[in-house]
Amino acid sequence: SWGSFVDKHVFEWSSEDEEPDGKARPVQVLVVKDDHTFELDEAALSRILLAKDLRDREIVAISVAGAFRKGKSFLMDFMLRYMYSQASEDWVGDPDEPLTGFSWRGGSERETTGIQIWSEVFLVDKPDGNKVAVLLMDTQGTFDSQSTLRDSATVFALSTMISSMQVYNISQNVQEDDLQHLQLFTEYGRLAMEETFLKPFQSMIFLVRDWSFPYEFPYGQEGGMKFLEKRLKISENQHEELQNVRKHIHSCFTNISCFLMPHPGLKVATNPHFDGRLKEIDSEFIGNLKVLVPWLLSPKNLDVKEINGSKITCRGLLEYFKAYIKIYQG
Ligand code: GDP
Ligand code: MG
Repeated sequence: SWGSFVDKHVFEWSSEDEEPDGKARPVQVLVVKDDHTFELDEAALSRILLAKDLRDREIVAISVAGAFRKGKSFLMDFMLRYMYSQASEDWVGDPDEPLTGFSWRGGSERETTGIQIWSEVFLVDKPDGNKVAVLLMDTQGTFDSQSTLRDSATVFALSTMISSMQVYNISQNVQEDDLQHLQLFTEYGRLAMEETFLKPFQSMIFLVRDWSFPYEFPYGQEGGMKFLEKRLKISENQHEELQNVRKHIHSCFTNISCFLMPHPGLKVATNPHFDGRLKEIDSEFIGNLKVLVPWLLSPKNLDVKEINGSKITCRGLLEYFKAYIKIYQG
């Protein structure tokens, strides 16, 4: 029939044009250019989100955001392993298998500020019978100078606006400036959205890497929650500015949680030839990874993206993405 003819040829065209070896890969959908303008690759985004079996599915969008070189892409690649293994027991992989997916690397050269998505969107059956589409987003920001802070704010805001779960990846501790950045970024986002009585964003996870005080607050989610409660507590004798940052963060997200991750070991942090194999990662890190990733991604924990209280499909998310980017392009 004509329908299957079109499907076949559209597929062949896109597979030759975009994925020569048919393999999934990261796709840069948003770039911040040197003159601080934004470019959205609408064609690539459409190709992914409007695929026939996806476009009318409700979408779960998971984003990881934060400064460069703090292990975001490294973590994302473990999230990919979990998704590809369909949540099987031994999802974390073989001891000698190099880690692939989003590119992660050592060194300190600059990377593009922007948003990458994984070209394969996963279909997952939730325990309630709903089959949802799961999109993984890796973002890059600089956070270093005044001008790049604005770029990063926009990337962070956009990724928060279009995700149902934002993982805020930070190093060692939750410092006052991490909170201030978060306030700035979410304020950027909130300004661009319609006023509603609902909280504008869904889940925010503070992911603290290289946590080194497990005797005060143990690794994991419970220790993280206790730690975060203390850091986000509002008290009368606090400076007004500190109180405001905390009130703002509470007012933006429906769920706020925190996970404390141990240091992965010196090979991961400093060896330029390290290729991601498990054998060279500290076992305490792997143990916590086995808790963290299922906590974020197990089918029962996947929340569909909502905007103004309505569930969003892949097609809907594409429209929102386009509308939001217009606002920032001014
Ligand atoms: P991204 O820029 O945030 O995406 O960071 P990458 O994932 O590219 O990782 C940057 C470097 O940090 C690489 O050399 C990784 O091996 C290393 N790395 C990954 N995870 C961690 C971690 O939890 N702690 C530390 N100290 N280094 C890490
Ligand atoms: Mg990265």
